[in-house]
Amino acid sequence: MVSSSLERRDRDAIESKLNEYAGEYQLGGLDELKQKLLFDSHHMGKLLFVARISSPDNKTLYLQAPGTWKFDPKQLEHEGLAAKRWSHIPVDDSEDDGDNDTDRLEVAALRLPDRTLLQIGSITEERDDLLERFAAIYAGLVVPFLALGLIGGSFLSFRAFRPIRYLVDSLRSIVATGNLTARVVVVGSRDEVDELSSLFNSLLDKIEALIGGMKSSLDNVAHELRTPMTRLRGVAELALQPDAGVQALRDALENCLEESDRILTMVNTMMDISEAETGAMKLSMESVNVSELVEQVVELYSYVAEDKQIAISTSVPKELCITADRNRLLHVLANLVDNAIKYTPSGGKVDLKAVPNHDEVVIAVTDTGVGIAADERSKIYDRLYRGDTSRSERGLGLGLSLVKAIAEAHQGYVEVSSEVGHGSQFALHLRA
Ligand code: ADP
Repeated sequence: MVSSSLERRDRDAIESKLNEYAGEYQLGGLDELKQKLLFDSHHMGKLLFVARISSPDNKTLYLQAPGTWKFDPKQLEHEGLAAKRWSHIPVDDSEDDGDNDTDRLEVAALRLPDRTLLQIGSITEERDDLLERFAAIYAGLVVPFLALGLIGGSFLSFRAFRPIRYLVDSLRSIVATGNLTARVVVVGSRDEVDELSSLFNSLLDKIEALIGGMKSSLDNVAHELRTPMTRLRGVAELALQPDAGVQALRDALENCLEESDRILTMVNTMMDISEAETGAMKLSMESVNVSELVEQVVELYSYVAEDKQIAISTSVPKELCITADRNRLLHVLANLVDNAIKYTPSGGKVDLKAVPNHDEVVIAVTDTGVGIAADERSKIYDRLYRGDTSRSERGLGLGLSLVKAIAEAHQGYVEVSSEVGHGSQFALHLRA
């Protein structure tokens, strides 16, 4: 850019001179032009350009050049033949700074109306020097700056990418070893990468907890299945004794049926929970009268409650309705009432209450039973979890998991409040 703008400046100067002398020639002819050239050289003290006037057949009529410029005039003649506007010929300026460089003469040519050729040229030495100096300064500044920028940039990017590298390393180690306990180092720079690392760690925490949950769930299933399967095997083995009578065989078959029913219930319930949790459970939503549903559950459990001398009371507004899957909701309530009766000693009370609350309906099952210890409350919704005090009672440890999964599949939730020795309350919050 610098070079071309300097060149344009020089060429403009030569061209204006060329036009000026062409005008002079046309006004006063060759003699007038010669006079003018001589006057100019005299006036300037030192002629700073070359001027050549040649006849149409390229014979030099006049040539004027500073004495210190050594060049071959033949070359000027030669360029005159080429009919080019601009040309360059080598020149040696003995007055220059002694760097022995051969400079260039930049020559512009103009064919006048009578075919006479006028050539004006100037040395490019000043321009070349300027460009050379400029290049030296440019290189002297830009190269170190560039090097500095490169080193600084590499250093900064190295530092900036360090947390990303930690992230990649951690990921690589997790992928390679399957070890979910590895964590990304959080540098503490409080920037986006730091936040990403923290988020990544929380994600790993969640995945670890989930996988741990799945593992223990699987262990529990295997454990829970082993007992009925061993019992089944024992019963079958006994029945296969050679002296077993018909009645013994019947009893054995009955036992087998009971055990397989238990296994089947367990597997079906687990599948229901999975379906509800993953959203694959098909719900046939309809308007359900809560009062009728509660009555239905109470009726189902009236004998069991009577047997255990537990009084069941209800308090539900007659017209209270919600949109839900009737059978699933019945199942949920049945599980809650079943637990309430199971974990309440004889003579206790179970109460079912439903109230509208803003845009939801809360159905609460309250008992005066054994209650749930605070440290157990977070575990009761885990699959196959059974409280220590409940081992003597029948059950699979799946009832509350199903209650929670179905409540959530209905966009609702279940809440527990309890006091050990005084009783518990399970509140089902469902959309109206
Ligand atoms: P289970 O088949 O053992 O009843 P659940 O999933 O229904 O399984 O309940 C899990 C555990 O929560 C029970 O083992 C029991 O310890 C506790 N629990 C549930 N409901 C009650 C309740 N109403 N009162 C006291 N403890 C309860």
